[in-house]
Amino acid sequence: MIGSSVFDNLPSSAFYPLSYGQQALWFLYQIDPESVAYNIFTSVRISSELDIEALRRAWNKIIERHAILRTTYTSYAGTPVQRIHEKQEVDIQITDASNWSEDYLREQIFIETDRPFNLEIDSVLRINLFTQSVEEHILLLTMHHIAGDLWSFDILLNEFQNFYIGEIEKIDFQQEDSAENLSYIEFVRWQSELLSSSRGEELREYWQKQLAGELSILNLPTDKLRPPVQTYQGETHILKLDEQLIQKLRNLAIASGTSLYKITLAAFFVLLYRYSNQEDILVGSPMLGRLDRKFKGVVGYFVNPVVLRTTVSGYLTFKDFLDQISGTVKEAQKYQDYPFPLLVDKLQPQRDPSHSPLFQVSFTEQKQRWGEPLKNLSCCQDSGLQMEPYPLGHQRGASFDLDVMIMEAGEVLQVGWQYNTDLFDLETIARMAEHFLTLLEAIATNPEQRISELPLLTQTERQQLLFEWNNTTTEYPQDKCIHQLFEEQVEKTPDSVAVVFENQQLTYRELNQKANQLAHHLQTLGVRPEFLVGICVERSLEMIVGLLGILKAGGAYVPLDPHYPQERLSYMLADAGVEILLTQQNLLSSLSSHPARVICLDSDWPTTIEQHSHENLDVAVCVDNLVYVIYTSGSTGQPKGVAIEHLSLCNLTQVQRNLFNVEATSRVLQFVSLSFDPSVSEIFMAVTSGAMLILATASELMPGDDLQQILDNYSITHVTLPPSALAVLPTDEFPALGQIIVGGEACPLELVNQWSVGRRFFNAYGPTESTVCATVAQITHGSEKITIGRPINNTQVYILDSHHQPVPIGVPGELHIGGDGLARGYLNRPELTLEKFIPNPIGEGKSERLYKTGDLARYLADGNIEFLGRIDNQVKIRGFRIELGEIEAVLNAHPQIQQ
Ligand code: AMP
Ligand code: MG
Repeated sequence: MIGSSVFDNLPSSAFYPLSYGQQALWFLYQIDPESVAYNIFTSVRISSELDIEALRRAWNKIIERHAILRTTYTSYAGTPVQRIHEKQEVDIQITDASNWSEDYLREQIFIETDRPFNLEIDSVLRINLFTQSVEEHILLLTMHHIAGDLWSFDILLNEFQNFYIGEIEKIDFQQEDSAENLSYIEFVRWQSELLSSSRGEELREYWQKQLAGELSILNLPTDKLRPPVQTYQGETHILKLDEQLIQKLRNLAIASGTSLYKITLAAFFVLLYRYSNQEDILVGSPMLGRLDRKFKGVVGYFVNPVVLRTTVSGYLTFKDFLDQISGTVKEAQKYQDYPFPLLVDKLQPQRDPSHSPLFQVSFTEQKQRWGEPLKNLSCCQDSGLQMEPYPLGHQRGASFDLDVMIMEAGEVLQVGWQYNTDLFDLETIARMAEHFLTLLEAIATNPEQRISELPLLTQTERQQLLFEWNNTTTEYPQDKCIHQLFEEQVEKTPDSVAVVFENQQLTYRELNQKANQLAHHLQTLGVRPEFLVGICVERSLEMIVGLLGILKAGGAYVPLDPHYPQERLSYMLADAGVEILLTQQNLLSSLSSHPARVICLDSDWPTTIEQHSHENLDVAVCVDNLVYVIYTSGSTGQPKGVAIEHLSLCNLTQVQRNLFNVEATSRVLQFVSLSFDPSVSEIFMAVTSGAMLILATASELMPGDDLQQILDNYSITHVTLPPSALAVLPTDEFPALGQIIVGGEACPLELVNQWSVGRRFFNAYGPTESTVCATVAQITHGSEKITIGRPINNTQVYILDSHHQPVPIGVPGELHIGGDGLARGYLNRPELTLEKFIPNPIGEGKSERLYKTGDLARYLADGNIEFLGRIDNQVKIRGFRIELGEIEAVLNAHPQIQQ
């Protein structure tokens, strides 16, 4: 749009075209003339007696010098133009603030800075003087960005000092750099000429190359859902650096031949990398836009954001990364004159109205320059004007998701965090600012550390996340196996009904005796600790007798769902090396050939099993022997057996009985197939607390009307369901149903609100590898967020990044589990076990090993954990865990499928 033609075709000599930066602002102004997002301001404290008339004369002289301060804006034939006025009186408001408190003063200042400008008629610079006493004043300059930038304030304040003193001393002060007496219009012309020259081409080519390929959007974890259209609501949080740290950083700048700006910028990149887990990172950074020194003293909108793009590798040391960033900055500075709005226009990035284009976060260096000792004026020492910065730390609005400002004024270094309030809460930004400090401290102390290993968490946070929130140690009997806990319960409630299936039932005593008979029989067949016994039965009383019988004989059970395909069953039998298999007569035909010795719990009962003693056995089985092996989907094409020991199950059972109030009067539904580990929790929390366990056939348990019938008919008190099953359950009163436990997959909030009224509702989370359940949340009606709660007793959770560093509150990472629930590993898969059960990288952690769940989660500020999804391809279908890799492997094995 800009070219000499525009200059030529204007109606009068008072009309001029706009620079590219101004055009973009004018465009935004037309969309929302009331917006104050582009008001810029600065304030200083003056500690001297003031001559108000001299002050007015000084400002009038300044405005006379800078045409841009006498300019209004309008459209001419669809093109924005600036109209320079010959004369304009300075707009100074003087207010008596002598009785005002500091807070009230700030409020009044913000009213002023938040007042919109009418660019078509108003003066673009407003000056306020708040007089606190004869010798104390606050001078506030408010300007629309279209007329200037922060550097312009430095120029103005510098000139103000000089002209004011000139007025007082009655000397005709000449501003040093006014020789050329350039105006902003010269810059507009210069920019237009530059862009049509070969240098302009060069600039464009550089940026097109630099920003080639897909430009990733920086996904900082937000507190609120991102609005579909970007908003500009913002606030600023200010953090002051302490003197010692500043000194250390200055030393590093000298030692590394860089600057405070580059060090803090590099640290900021590290922070973003650690928060987003992204490697290709783009940060905007405003450049002064005054490379050509002739514009040094010109007031106007020169500043131009450049995009700093870099690839962060966690393996680099900070020192090396600093070199990398220095290179990036050096180049960007060299090519800074290409106007950002034009770049966006040229690149035509795929526009997403919820994000700002090309970059979403910005990093700004603000150096206060007017405070430097004045040149040429030896006189001002005595008659001087005592001025110092009066930082406001307030900026309504936010152009980006986040804009970090390094504000250097003399010896003081502050970091301003301007953030979009529709995305972030203040607490989150304040934490981020603390993490930035932690990083800077570590960098200043040892710049040779790898950037993936630099600490982020403050000491307090580390203590809280790693230790306090994991302080779950609770006593429980560690010398009894799970079947022994059952036997203790038999002593207490021998005549209570333990298990019900259709019209059959067994009391605790009967169940115990039958299980003992089976166990004695199994013993004669060689079952002992660490011996795996398969169990492939339909839901029935025998199923429970079978499980307990295996355990009482000292063995561990391997559940085999009779409805699984034959090949899968054969694979599992072979993989586990099952030598004895418990089943039922009618299932024999559905099992393909296998070497295991078969015992039919129905037909072999009267002939063989019943002959054995029904007394408890005394077997040398202990809590670190195996209790069961459950197979879960494996990504390499075959399922893998998760081997769990007694102690893990005993801990779980104790936790769940307490948490879910399972008592002798409870009726617990056995819903899920034995092949899925929630069955373990249902069965054992019931039979170790004197409760009644209700079994039903698979068809009676179909989520929907059938399940409703069962819940009603048996007055079930406790049910554990995947949310997808709960979702299709007809809403009924279910007066007996006091506890609903969901788990296995993410639970939608609507379900909680629907089902939590008048009862206790739990969201239980955990992989098979840590014994069913690692964390639990009790979710109350009206909750705003579903969480998976906190680690259960004797369990630790660590949320770690890909370099095994703990992530801060709010930042997603992989959930790792440690503690008593951890599986021994995968059966006969030492490599896979080593890969998934890693040595605890948190040195002082309790658990020696951690299980890598592959789940993405983050801490909320109150310590509850939010489940976010998977980091791999595992999916859940109605709560069933499926590795897509397994399906892929099977498909690939087909002769006619190549890929
Ligand atoms: P499984 O080993 O079959 O219990 O599957 C464990 C996986 O199920 C976990 O790693 C999660 O991905 C998912 N999962 C289990 N419980 C929950 C829950 N309460 N909310 C969300 N996902 C869950
Ligand atoms: Mg589970």
